[in-house]
Amino acid sequence: MFDIAKIRNDFPILKREVNGKPLVYFDNAATSQTPQQVIDVIVDYYQNYNANIHRGVHSLSQEATDAYEQARQKIQEHFNIAKSHEVIFTSGTTDAINLVANGFAAFIKQGDEVLVSALEHHSNIVPWQMLCEKTGAQLKVIPMGTDGQLKMDIFHELLSDKTRLVFCNHVSNALGTINPIKEIIDAAHKVGAAVLIDGAQAAPHIKADVQELDVDFYTVSAHKMCGPTGVGILYGKEDWLNKLPPYQGGGEMIAEVTFEETTYADLPHKFEAGTPNIAGGIAFGAALDYMNAVGFGAIASYENDLLEYATKKLLEIDGLKIYGPLEGKASVISFNIQGIHPYDIGTILDKLGIAVRTGHHCAQPIMDFYQIPGTVRASFSFYNTKEEIDVLVEGVKKARMMLQ
Ligand SMILES: *Cc1c(COP(=O)(O)O)cnc(C)c1O
Repeated sequence: MFDIAKIRNDFPILKREVNGKPLVYFDNAATSQTPQQVIDVIVDYYQNYNANIHRGVHSLSQEATDAYEQARQKIQEHFNIAKSHEVIFTSGTTDAINLVANGFAAFIKQGDEVLVSALEHHSNIVPWQMLCEKTGAQLKVIPMGTDGQLKMDIFHELLSDKTRLVFCNHVSNALGTINPIKEIIDAAHKVGAAVLIDGAQAAPHIKADVQELDVDFYTVSAHKMCGPTGVGILYGKEDWLNKLPPYQGGGEMIAEVTFEETTYADLPHKFEAGTPNIAGGIAFGAALDYMNAVGFGAIASYENDLLEYATKKLLEIDGLKIYGPLEGKASVISFNIQGIHPYDIGTILDKLGIAVRTGHHCAQPIMDFYQIPGTVRASFSFYNTKEEIDVLVEGVKKARMMLQ
């Protein structure tokens, strides 16, 4: 069923060399690689039917509009979204979160509280800080433990009738922790608070069902799941999207414009001002087709094998510490070696053709929590192999010898 040789053959970049060594790409949590099938869709768009959408009566414009709207339907089906106009195309997760944070200023007042988890990416912290600054609401943090899990007992204590919004990622990009989002959503709803789940890091590993989750907002970036950069979605419940004011003014998002008054277009166009990333949207649909053909069940079990294997091998290295959970998480390993700066390890690994991320992974509060400058993060995708993990382990051993 899971033919790794065939899968790897779909990703042209995996054939290249870096610094004279075969590329070992373990920076999948930052961005995933793109299969030929998705690249072909982008090329086909520009070669054969590049035109602006929703405007022209001409054939090319119609073809482009049809393909773009078909992609919206694929996204709708994938995340089990009830209505296609609940899928708002954005430039990615950051853009989607800012759209909601900006709009929520209309519903938040001084004395209200906004809860955010300690495990967040900066893109799910800063927009809420800006919102609180603007409105006088208070930002409260759901704390984490050294095990890299949220302290849920404290979360439940923090909830009150002052809580308007709760923000949390589905999967932490820095540690791989899978957060108990169903529990968070249900408890927040009991006090009348809305919930935004940042699904950027979950989407490549877990197929979320937004109706079953009963989540108010869910965000995804295509480039983390075999699609292109610069495109993603905001899912929002219809009621919320109707209530939220538009984020940006411009073409496509209006019904009528006079200098006295403008009325806004219906969903989803109200939030889609200007010419979107048309090729990107269509390619996002193709990326979902690709991943679904491989199968999310097969992806999860294969990646879990890689994770177990890598965890075991890495922990055999003297002085190596893994941060956050060791199992029951997405295929992300954040580690350090005692006495060595993560950046130095990353630099040596790069010389060996191995791409990892070093630093705070846009989640500085987590690094502050552990009182470290950062970590080395190796994140695995379904196109990686155990042989590549062996190369990583040998590389880390070599770095340790050279640096200690
Ligand atoms: C990557 C990531 C983001 C940011 O996504 P962009 O595509 O850069 O907007 C936000 N949250 C998490 C958990 C991520 O992994």
